[in-house]
Amino acid sequence: MIKSIPFSNLNRAATVRKIAKEHFDIVVIGGGITGGGIALDAASRGLKVLLLEKGDFASGTSSKSTKLIHGGLRYLKQFDFWLVKEVGSERAIVHKLAPHLVLPEKMLLPLIEGGSYGKWLTSVGLKVYDILAQVSGDDKRQMLEKKEAMALEPLLPKKIVKGAGHYAEYRTDDARLTLENIKTSLQYGAEALNYAEVTDFIYSENRVKGVVVKDHFSGDEFSVKAKYVVSAAGPWVDELRSINNSKKGKRLHLTKGVHLVFPHHKLPVKQSVYFDVPDGRMIFAIPRGKITYVGTTDTNYNLDKDMVETDIADAIYLIAAVNNMFPSINLAMEDIQSSWAGLRPLIHEEGKSASELSRKDEIFTSETGLISIAGGKLTGYRKMAERVVNRIAKKMEEEEGKEVPVCLTETLTLCGSAFKKHKEVKKYIAEIYERIKADGFTMYDAWYLVTNYGVQTEAIINFYKNRKEKDKAVRMILSEVEFGVAFEMVQSPLDFFIRRTGRLYFDIQSVRTLMKPVILELQRIFKVNEEKAQEWKEALKSELKTHSDFSIERT
Ligand SMILES: Cc1cc2nc3c(=O)[nH]c(=O)nc-3n(C[C@H](O)[C@H](O)[C@H](O)COP(=O)(O)OP(=O)(O)OC[C@H]3O[C@@H](n4cnc5c(N)ncnc54)[C@H](O)[C@@H]3O)c2cc1C
Repeated sequence: MIKSIPFSNLNRAATVRKIAKEHFDIVVIGGGITGGGIALDAASRGLKVLLLEKGDFASGTSSKSTKLIHGGLRYLKQFDFWLVKEVGSERAIVHKLAPHLVLPEKMLLPLIEGGSYGKWLTSVGLKVYDILAQVSGDDKRQMLEKKEAMALEPLLPKKIVKGAGHYAEYRTDDARLTLENIKTSLQYGAEALNYAEVTDFIYSENRVKGVVVKDHFSGDEFSVKAKYVVSAAGPWVDELRSINNSKKGKRLHLTKGVHLVFPHHKLPVKQSVYFDVPDGRMIFAIPRGKITYVGTTDTNYNLDKDMVETDIADAIYLIAAVNNMFPSINLAMEDIQSSWAGLRPLIHEEGKSASELSRKDEIFTSETGLISIAGGKLTGYRKMAERVVNRIAKKMEEEEGKEVPVCLTETLTLCGSAFKKHKEVKKYIAEIYERIKADGFTMYDAWYLVTNYGVQTEAIINFYKNRKEKDKAVRMILSEVEFGVAFEMVQSPLDFFIRRTGRLYFDIQSVRTLMKPVILELQRIFKVNEEKAQEWKEALKSELKTHSDFSIERT
């Protein structure tokens, strides 16, 4: 088992002092999945890496995806075979790197009278999908008759269902996948800092040789030297290209995607379904613990990138789509329990609509040497990182005669995993349940701990044993807070409730009942005054409202 490395804002001042003195091979801008993947790839090849994130890790798009590690079946329709082949093949690899965090998720694609795909096309499409992604064994697609499809998902519209395709995908928590990549990169000597915004570049002989950083913790500014600077800033890539005076030629095209969360009993699908929307698009309904989430939309976006919200029109669209496919379900606005909205950083193509734009990634190198990467998928992060680091390795070889090893990440188990197969994860969940049930915890609690933290659950249970709170739920969540502050750079209640635990999306009630002790604990740990604690509380309340209140008064 890999030992957790302290990764804490409690040591921040010392970390900043150290970073400012060093000379890095690579500075990576952006702590989303792309930046996290690059940091791990480069550090594991022996390069000296620093990753800088302006907000919290994964606070951009990488906490707001559909959270699927998938091959992108719909890209077959766009003849994007290369993309399907790459991300399709990546699914099994990413699962192997963290079987507790990237879980197998069978997908049902119902065949409906008048739907997008007929039986023949679906069968051939899924077969091509399997071949491109080299899917084998039980994971190969199956074509189901009407009766079999209805047995798997009784909520389907019996009158018009003709059968279904059943195929294998994986589900994850995007923010935790990002964080575990970053934490694993630390095992190979990388440094990473959240709340550290790159505001400018440092040049030497007209080449980018470092960055200017604004520390949002202290308000101070410092600079960092590096041989290469990579911008993996997602939707903000063009902002950094502008600062670098290199926003020429291709540019980003941002599209917004929204997800809605319902209590599972309100949308009790037995399994994940990928289904038709009357306008010709397709969306997912994905059950996950206590909830089912539904998404996504795909609309052009030109507003504030730091304030992307689900609006009423998005909610109406998704609810209508669900009610259309599952006629016995009458979802209403007040059933929405939570939601999230994110931006796809796609590459603009003249004349193409949001849904038609390719999801392929591209790398741009400016005249001054700034390397930017945009586009791509969560699923393909490892290959994107490999391409960026290969490019830098080639330059290092040409310019310094330095030999950089080939990419290793295909075999680098991520932090939190000591599992070879999903079966072992299931066994470990049962084991954890046995250890915590006497204190009133349920199988759900054990499942949550293991699928969130993997074997790092041991550290949380150790904290739990040493704490004294009488209320067991409070004691457990404060143990998670202790772990998050010591090993995951938690700095605020939002970091904790959104990006470390996913509770704001998947268990919003627990945020409401446990926010008070969590805020008090963070106040104690970080020794902040009442004013700051009040600010945290207001920020959390505002997030709770934004994510879950779709009443008329909100508009
Ligand atoms: C609605 C939706 C659903 C999706 N579903 C899926 C899916 O199911 N499966 C899949 O494979 N893909 C999916 N995707 C795509 C996937 O989520 C994205 O491709 C991926 O998350 C992009 O990651 P990133 O690291 O490039 O960008 P981001 O996650 O946005 O990271 C960029 C980071 O850079 C930081 N940053 C910006 N400027 C600066 C600066 N000046 N200094 C320091 N830091 C800076 C930002 O704060 C941000 O955290 C989905 C996307 C959307 C929007």
